[in-house]
Amino acid sequence: MRQKIVAGNWKMNTTLAEGIELVNQIAERIDQVPQDVKLIVNTPFTHLFAVSQAIAAIKCPFCRSKIALGAQNCADKEKGAYTGEVSAKMLASVGSASNGAPVEYVILGHSERRGYYGETNAILLEKIKLALSEGLKVIYCVGEALEERKAGRHFDVVAEEIKDVLFNLTGEQMKNIVVAYEPIWAIGTGETATKEQAQEIHAFIRSTLAEKFGDMAEETSILYGGSCKPSNAKELFSQKDIDGGLIGGASLKAEDFIGIATSY
Ligand code: PEP
Repeated sequence: MRQKIVAGNWKMNTTLAEGIELVNQIAERIDQVPQDVKLIVNTPFTHLFAVSQAIAAIKCPFCRSKIALGAQNCADKEKGAYTGEVSAKMLASVGSASNGAPVEYVILGHSERRGYYGETNAILLEKIKLALSEGLKVIYCVGEALEERKAGRHFDVVAEEIKDVLFNLTGEQMKNIVVAYEPIWAIGTGETATKEQAQEIHAFIRSTLAEKFGDMAEETSILYGGSCKPSNAKELFSQKDIDGGLIGGASLKAEDFIGIATSY
């Protein structure tokens, strides 16, 4: 069975106090989340330590096991003179330092990182390898721009982002990859892919993965991201190849985030 996942991408939002408040509000409502759904909060770097402790402080072990911590990026270098960068090893060290929940996930390949910070498939492959070598799981984002969809190039764009990067991994490494399909035209715009558009490309992603990884593609969770909210999550999540969502704006309100996680 593929893992159902609802992952929040907080981006560059919330002060530390607001982030702690948000995770506490999520924790208060977590008993509403079905047993087979995993929540992930991908916080700014500055919040990881405190949110790790907040998760560890959730009293009921069963509720605690439903939420995991993630980061939004890591460096493409192991360590050294790279001012301002945060390595995969640093991320992996947070849980043990805080006596809290480990950082289990890292988002890589988000279109904002590709677009604003020039992250290429080659850079992303380096980042993914380093993250995996530190025992992190990766939420790898792919997706096309509006012009690419209008030109009917969305399948080619997504195939390239998968083949150039994920096809360089072993089957064993692939077990720790979650793919997120995020059409750039739907991110933060209020415009969502229809369930048919999303299912079509999710099925395509799965069949592309199967070319290299065979049956394992059936086990890979593929999330939809792009203006997903409580009002549209159910129809998206009802699709055969959509295993959950990567949520930006709506992950910043506990009520909406939990509303999405209860939409299966
Ligand atoms: C995202 O950027 O990962 C995202 C899905 O954003 P939003 O939900 O705000 O469209």
